[in-house]
Amino acid sequence: MEILYKSTRGGEENIKASEAILKGLATDGGLFVPNMLPKLDVSFDSLKDSTYQDVAYEVMKLFFSDFTEEELKECINKAYDEKFDTSIIAPLVEADGAYYLELFHGSTIAFKDMALSILPHLMITSAKKQHVENEIVILTATSGDTGKAALAGFSNVKGTKIIVFYPKDGVSQIQEKQMLTQKGDNTHVVAVYGNFDDAQTGVKKIFSNVKLKQLLEQSGYQFSSANSINIGRLVPQIVYYVYAYVALLREKKVKDCGSINVVVPTGNFGNILAAYYAKELGVPIRKLLCASNENKVLFDFLQSGTYNKKREFILTTSPSMDILVSSNLERLIYKIAGNRADLCAKLMEELSVNGSYTISESMMEELNDFYGGYASEKETANCINDLYSKTGYVIDTHTAVASAVYKKYKKDTKDQTPSIIVSTASPFKFTGSVMEALGETNEMIDDFEKVEKLSKIANVKIPEAIEDIRKAEILHHTICEVENMEQEIIKFLDI
Ligand SMILES: *Cc1c(COP(=O)(O)O)cnc(C)c1O
Repeated sequence: MEILYKSTRGGEENIKASEAILKGLATDGGLFVPNMLPKLDVSFDSLKDSTYQDVAYEVMKLFFSDFTEEELKECINKAYDEKFDTSIIAPLVEADGAYYLELFHGSTIAFKDMALSILPHLMITSAKKQHVENEIVILTATSGDTGKAALAGFSNVKGTKIIVFYPKDGVSQIQEKQMLTQKGDNTHVVAVYGNFDDAQTGVKKIFSNVKLKQLLEQSGYQFSSANSINIGRLVPQIVYYVYAYVALLREKKVKDCGSINVVVPTGNFGNILAAYYAKELGVPIRKLLCASNENKVLFDFLQSGTYNKKREFILTTSPSMDILVSSNLERLIYKIAGNRADLCAKLMEELSVNGSYTISESMMEELNDFYGGYASEKETANCINDLYSKTGYVIDTHTAVASAVYKKYKKDTKDQTPSIIVSTASPFKFTGSVMEALGETNEMIDDFEKVEKLSKIANVKIPEAIEDIRKAEILHHTICEVENMEQEIIKFLDI
């Protein structure tokens, strides 16, 4: 059966998957949701010997039902290849009574690779299906992780160009070097004098600039975005929950069709929403543990039913979770509102006008599958240290937020259900904070030296992704003022 998409705010419906992938956001500002949540049509048992790519096909074919088998398999095979440093793609590691699902074996050693390595292929296939002849120009503002993962995904993908803006002094040394050494003639990286918000606002302005849009059109280009609300990013994230469950069954870590919990370090709510969709698909997930850092807006929401973004923004050691407006939550709100777009639109309007909204009692009841928790900076660091002392396994700061929340949950509830903790970044990506948590404080050495030291301590080889950028040549040299971002695009596209 064909799944069609509609906006969470009611402005659009009957949109094919390929159309929704190309558009990203609905015209009314809503997010695209499937008109029904499909069920897996194969048994877990039959998937026991399947590769990651096989499982990816079984999941994605349900959501991207206007893609042919050949189209979808080509996208999958191009995405999940040698770019990953293990053919398992998403391995599970058992440590201290939990299963860490490592989603950091792709080219930028963080979980954004899981979706951004396939999005470019889904996008150009969608363009073909929709008879779009223009070349797709991806514009992104980044605070570090997304930019590099998007660059790596789109690099040398025919029919696309990608331009990434980042705040000149707002990213880590390793993150900056990762971006500036990016290969691919179709990639362009620009540092902006300003902070992340300046870069983000600049990009938003460019997207709504009608004149520029016309200029692009005349030259055979059109803009698109790779941000995390695109269903082309959300759906590929469902795959690893199915894959991990099958692995636990195969290893006899869960009994036949027994339940599991998943613990997800959360920012924009994309990853945990994918877990919720996996549950709807048929994976027996008992509890979805939503783990926040000190920016605990989601914890407060799950406790009280009130989402309130009016609060101090705290800079933490898990920067990819420093978020006050979790965009993907809108899809869950729509669902628990009984798929009522008018109600969802009203709440989102309140958020935008007043900075907060409160859901009804009955909507609140629909959230029983979720458990909200948060970890302070100290708890996060202690968690890295404790786990290392106990087992020798080193986790990054984001994963540690989840791990700390799981520990509290287990203590409070005595729940013994086997649990997957989603590991969203390699500890080598946040070496400074990880080393500090391990008690190795040496301000004098630079990030690359810390990497060497961490490798010895953790007894883990330095990831290829880090080795590569160390020796690599700087290929991007552009810095501009916020006012000149548009000019940079015009120059790069030569229009
Ligand atoms: C993006 C990111 C997250 C948050 O994921 P969401 O899908 O935005 O909730 C967590 N950890 C890392 C390392 C990330 O890059």
